[in-house]
Amino acid sequence: MNAEIIAVGTELLLGQIVNTNAQFLAQELASLGMGVYYHTVVGDNLQRLVQAFQQAWERSQVVILTGGLGPTTDDITRDGVALALHRPLGFHEDVWQEIVGQMWRTNRPIPENNRRQAMVPQGATVLPNPRGTAPGLAIAEGDHLAVLLPGPPREMQPMFVDYVRPLLLERIGHGVILSRSLRVIGIGESALEEQIADLIAAQSNPTIAMYASLGELQIRITAKAEDEAVAQGLIAPIEAAIRQRIGSAIYGVDADTLPGVLGQLLKERGYQIALAESCTGGLLGSMITDVPGSSEYFGAGYITYSNHAKHSMLGVPLELIAKHGAVSAACAEAMAAGARRASGADVGIAITGIAGPDGGTAEKPVGTVYIAVVAPEGALVEKLALRGERAAIRARSAKTAMNLARLLLLGEKGSF
Ligand code: ATP
Repeated sequence: MNAEIIAVGTELLLGQIVNTNAQFLAQELASLGMGVYYHTVVGDNLQRLVQAFQQAWERSQVVILTGGLGPTTDDITRDGVALALHRPLGFHEDVWQEIVGQMWRTNRPIPENNRRQAMVPQGATVLPNPRGTAPGLAIAEGDHLAVLLPGPPREMQPMFVDYVRPLLLERIGHGVILSRSLRVIGIGESALEEQIADLIAAQSNPTIAMYASLGELQIRITAKAEDEAVAQGLIAPIEAAIRQRIGSAIYGVDADTLPGVLGQLLKERGYQIALAESCTGGLLGSMITDVPGSSEYFGAGYITYSNHAKHSMLGVPLELIAKHGAVSAACAEAMAAGARRASGADVGIAITGIAGPDGGTAEKPVGTVYIAVVAPEGALVEKLALRGERAAIRARSAKTAMNLARLLLLGEKGSF
């Protein structure tokens, strides 16, 4: 079954906002095993929306639209779809009462033009929106389904999960669709693709999809089957084949996070951790302490930007910095050892590097980052040559540091 996505809004066309709704929906539809071949963005223009919708309706069974369900005249999605499907709009008192109730609860005045949001195309199902005023709409016509969702992601996402996903599952008509995500770090996207190219080429059921975001990768394996046990049976050999090829680069599955997995390892060993951060300025500490219960293993974080701070707080010898530079393997090692010593922690992690955009040299360009980890299991130091903007370099550095600590604790030091 094919689906496509139409995002409505001139803000999107002008690049003022990013189309994250399409990203979310595309991933959700892929996880249902649906083929998505088109994403469209249309401005707040009725004629163009009608055209885009008609085209989508001809080539895809499911068309999901987001945005343009607000109360003002430039919110044209409801009118456009009603026009394209020749379904007159009618005022629904019960929908209006819902909207009025919603506004009362949030102490807002009730403008008359909100009544537009209670206009429903003939035969449409109304999808409740407890987080906003614009209800969603679903229109079924034979094997075709049009779904209209509000633009704000915090309203759109739960509406999709609560109402649209079940509708789609019903239409897909399989017993279950089961997905398992393998969370991967320490291997590049193209290197990963090479490693599993034959599995991807041979895929049918389960399907295999790869997603990349900020230094991490996700491999989603999705199986359709009559029941969960059969679906699991289809996924297991694919997962085993992938694990055999990239092994310890898989740090977790499904909702696992890198800070969560590292935290678990520290807890199991009864270790305390201390950080010495230079170019990440506390980002690593923030990521690690985002995990509830991290106080059990997080000892201290030192943000040592200046040479003086590295020396006075962590005991890094000034001569060492003069000789090797603050961005060096020697300095990273001394920082990690210093953080461990100063705090009495079991594990020390240090990050020192050049996040840019300035400060790079021919010898140490922007993106040069050294990470050191010292633990009872041993010690390691790695030099990274990262590309990208300051924020990306900082985030990748922090994630790589957590991954190196994870590998060291597991006795699987090294990366791909
Ligand atoms: P509202 O009732 O809030 O007006 P709406 O359904 O009319 O909802 P829009 O007016 O199109 O939605 O968009 C409202 C806001 O939702 C936008 O300003 C933007 O912040 C967010 N938004 C809309 N479309 C998208 C999208 N495709 N991706 C991410 N965010 C979006």
